[in-house]
Amino acid sequence: MTVLNQSGHRVYLNGQWVASERELEVVNPADGKVFASVSTVDREQVRAAIDAAHAAFPAWRAMTAKERGILLHKVADELKRRQDEIARIITLENGKPLAQSKGEVGMSEDHLRWFAEESKRAYGRMIPQQDSHKRNLVIKSPIGVVGAIAPWNFPLVLAVRKVAPALAAGCPVILKPASKTPLCSVLLAECMEAAGIPAGVFQLIIGNAGMIAEEFLNNPLCRKITFTGSTEVGQGLIRGAAAQVKPLSLELGGHAPLLVFEDCDLDVAVRETMIAKFRNMGQSCIAANRIYVQKSIYSAFMEKFVAAAKALKVGNGLEPGMDVGPLIGEKALESALAQIEDAVKRGANVRCGGKRVANTDGFFLEPTVLDGVVDGSVCMCEETFAPIAPVTSFETEQEALTRANASPFGLSAYVMTRDYARMLRCAEALESGTIGINDGAPTTSNAPFGGVKHSGWGRELGSEGLDGFLETKHVSLGGF
Ligand code: NAP
Repeated sequence: MTVLNQSGHRVYLNGQWVASERELEVVNPADGKVFASVSTVDREQVRAAIDAAHAAFPAWRAMTAKERGILLHKVADELKRRQDEIARIITLENGKPLAQSKGEVGMSEDHLRWFAEESKRAYGRMIPQQDSHKRNLVIKSPIGVVGAIAPWNFPLVLAVRKVAPALAAGCPVILKPASKTPLCSVLLAECMEAAGIPAGVFQLIIGNAGMIAEEFLNNPLCRKITFTGSTEVGQGLIRGAAAQVKPLSLELGGHAPLLVFEDCDLDVAVRETMIAKFRNMGQSCIAANRIYVQKSIYSAFMEKFVAAAKALKVGNGLEPGMDVGPLIGEKALESALAQIEDAVKRGANVRCGGKRVANTDGFFLEPTVLDGVVDGSVCMCEETFAPIAPVTSFETEQEALTRANASPFGLSAYVMTRDYARMLRCAEALESGTIGINDGAPTTSNAPFGGVKHSGWGRELGSEGLDGFLETKHVSLGGF
């Protein structure tokens, strides 16, 4: 059992908890203080982890999907049993309000249960033969050892989104969480151990990201890398994958547009825009970063939206009733303030917020709404990752769609309208992997999630979520 405020958390290698002298310190962004530390691995240990995973592969893949599913349900049971403790750790290392951390644990449990069942449906098929002397089968096989790299913004659920389908498909997986938020992965590893996941099938490594990625990329026994993080790092992985022709799944950056049409239900539009923008302090790859409102309802929308943003409670996520916690660190706060300054210089008005929260050592930014933001502003072109809502107006649907698509990113987009024809026109035209119609939180276990353009390759969740961990094979049966 992990005790908070204590140093010496360990990594989990081949069924053993391993300590090292090279520790990583973990900072609470609500007060800027180190509150825990965790062991890191060296290159030799990464290599050994891949060897152990490779050794564990034959027995794990030989289990039936039903047997693996039973174990995954047990991991989910453990997460549920320890949900309060895990949620508290997420808030301590990431900063998000406790209610949102609890939601993250709940969603992680749901992902585990989804893939515990979905692996039973990794169907192959029998194809009607072209030659009467042959039969053609298609079968699915687990790809092999998987290296999974996760980010800090949803530290548990985005790790589980990789680990659960990999395990369900029959692949051993080695998880490398973000250095800022490694602790909830330590608790996840404890849940894996308690559930009886065999040694080597799930391992946790923490440490130098470049070194770990290099071993994942160059070691031929690691057959797949699944990554969630910035587009820049993803591009580095694409380059590095060439030598081994290593398959990659990439969940990269986003810069979601949100379109509010004059035929929307204004209260629904404001409520869902608040979720799409301010959940997780705006530090979400699917956060609404560019808000386009039709001119005829611009003032009415702004009045309600600014009032809702002003009502948000900002503070330490462990205190009850908080809506917005701190940003992850000083650099994130500085870059958010620079985006506000840039927008204002180009003519935007600050309708609320705009400043660092005073009298705290934590990295808090006031929830900010910017009015009349011009398209060339940094916050309209680059990922924001902060509680900053830049709003601008548009005249026609075509104009809104053109401006929405004028970004290299394509992870998610939002549309607020009551017109069914418009819903479908927009869904077809928007260049993004997920479209939320009157829905500010569109991600769910049972539907595919992923990006187009610079937002990545492949899909997580849904039935598609297994695909990245399965090889499709054709078996030609002759001799009839
Ligand atoms: P990041 O800097 O790319 O880090 C993500 C992960 O990659 C961390 O575990 C990090 O390890 C590791 N990493 C860093 N350098 C690496 C390298 N050279 N090779 C391999 N791995 C490396 O991104 P972040 O700041 O943590 O996360 C924010 C970004 O993730 C945003 O762009 C956001 O949009 C994106 N994101 C995308 C999705 C999605 O589903 N599409 C979801 C969430 C977030 P260390 O922590 O040890 O440096």
